[in-house]
Amino acid sequence: MREQIEILASLQNVDREIKEKNGAKQVLLEEIRKREDELKMKRNAVTQLRAEWKEKDKLRQEKEHLLQDEGRKTMEKRMRMNRIKNIRELQALQHEVDQIKQANSQIEEELIGILEDLEARASMLKEKDEEISGLEQAWGGQKAGLEARVAEIDKEVAQTSAGRQTIAAQLNGDLIQRYEMIFSRRGGMAVVAISDGICQGCFMNIPPQLSNEIRKSERLHLCPSCHRILYYKPTVSNDKQI
Ligand SMILES: [Zn+2]
Repeated sequence: MREQIEILASLQNVDREIKEKNGAKQVLLEEIRKREDELKMKRNAVTQLRAEWKEKDKLRQEKEHLLQDEGRKTMEKRMRMNRIKNIRELQALQHEVDQIKQANSQIEEELIGILEDLEARASMLKEKDEEISGLEQAWGGQKAGLEARVAEIDKEVAQTSAGRQTIAAQLNGDLIQRYEMIFSRRGGMAVVAISDGICQGCFMNIPPQLSNEIRKSERLHLCPSCHRILYYKPTVSNDKQI
């Protein structure tokens, strides 16, 4: 049993390495996801601004058409004016023309406001576009670096996993199963040494009787407190006793 547990301890070293590497990979993937999300949000905001600009520009076109129509009407009325001889009719028509002029100047004023607004929006859009293309460029380089690191980790994990199989082949299947269950439940620490009568997993005292049995290492023993697989590892003070 001693040999099996020693092999199990080296299997655990490999598993811890794999676990650590996969953890590091998750951190990198999370970073990539977060940065991509941020960029996407910024892009969406610009898309929204661009849609607002288009909406505003449609309003500009409407106002311009309106102004053209009103201009035509003024023209027509002026031409009619030339043909009118009756003073009252002329006054009435003049009144209409004045009203149209007034309406036109209001539309023109609105149009100026709209044009100014469009210009401000356009320069903001240009600024945002530049900001995003700068961010995209910078992030493109960083992302490539992070992805290369992820690929490297995958390669390392594949190599380590191949080594793991060699080690696992030397172990009894039931033992591996039991170990794996404890490994996942106990945060990647399933096989621990007892040192000076203390479980190095949970740091509780192991009863002396059990301690002696573990030292003999004839069968599998679990820590009564944390249920990890225990093995005996001589320390300096133990050596002196022996
Ligand atoms: Zn324990």
